[in-house]
Amino acid sequence: MKQTANLTGLLQRLLEHSRPLYSQGKVADYIPALAQVAPQQAAVAVATLDGKIFSAGAAQQNFSLQSISKIFGLVMAMNRLSDELWQRVHMEPSGQPFNSIVQLEWEQGIPRNPVINAGAILVADVLVSHYSASKTAFLTFLRRLTGVETIYADQQVYLSELEHGNRNAALAYLMKSFGNIEAEVPQVLEHYFHQCATAISCEQLARSLLFLANRGVQPLSNEIICSRRDAHRVNAILSTSGMYDQSGEFAFKVGLPAKSGVGGAIVAIVPQFGVIAAWSPPLNPYGNSVVAMQVISQLAEELGLSLF
Ligand code: GLU
Repeated sequence: MKQTANLTGLLQRLLEHSRPLYSQGKVADYIPALAQVAPQQAAVAVATLDGKIFSAGAAQQNFSLQSISKIFGLVMAMNRLSDELWQRVHMEPSGQPFNSIVQLEWEQGIPRNPVINAGAILVADVLVSHYSASKTAFLTFLRRLTGVETIYADQQVYLSELEHGNRNAALAYLMKSFGNIEAEVPQVLEHYFHQCATAISCEQLARSLLFLANRGVQPLSNEIICSRRDAHRVNAILSTSGMYDQSGEFAFKVGLPAKSGVGGAIVAIVPQFGVIAAWSPPLNPYGNSVVAMQVISQLAEELGLSLF
């Protein structure tokens, strides 16, 4: 049993110590709407399997979910397709930037894993092809997981991504040329950008993924969200590929399945314990939030959370 006494005090201390790192990062600006976010903000929240929530900083403030949305899309797709999904997308680390195109050409349009952009666009194709209204289905899924009916997609971020998404469009058309995308590309991209534009807070995000720390069962409602095997698989993919091209270093230092997004959030799963979500917009050159990385690393160290 991990210690949760005084956890709020520990979170406050770690957040205050990490704030000076703001200046070491840069807010993502390749999506213009994200460039407008004030850089000097930070939050952390820990949700535990027994239903408690501990937090510090702006833990109820919304940020852009971005790449972390890939986890939810993947779980939805795994619930719809069986092992045929893994013939269309693999589960290996890419060793390339998240939006790289070269590897996809070499590997005949089969993305290395579902948490790089190509893989998540492939997953978006599965959702578009299997749901009559996939964007709504995605939001409904998140609302169910958080218990918050007001979770929404930020229209400004969505439109900004649509307008500046040429690289993602290139990935999608390349996969389509190999026959690995079934639906029409514009529809697939719309779904993908819409899920990335979801607005969420650290407290909501930490709660939403508790099922991954609990073998697929959302502890607050006792609902089965995915099979035990699929919870294991998602955690395995996050452990090897969730932190962009810094995943090896994160495993080396922290030892938890985790996913990062260019909105500045990082979420880490602590099996049998709970979920940590941290957010701060300035990113390091890999695309990971400098403050969130530091807070999660130190928390894992202090509480001895590493799985290894
Ligand atoms: N919507 C972003 C993109 O596709 C997500 C990137 C990320 O958070 O890694 O470029």
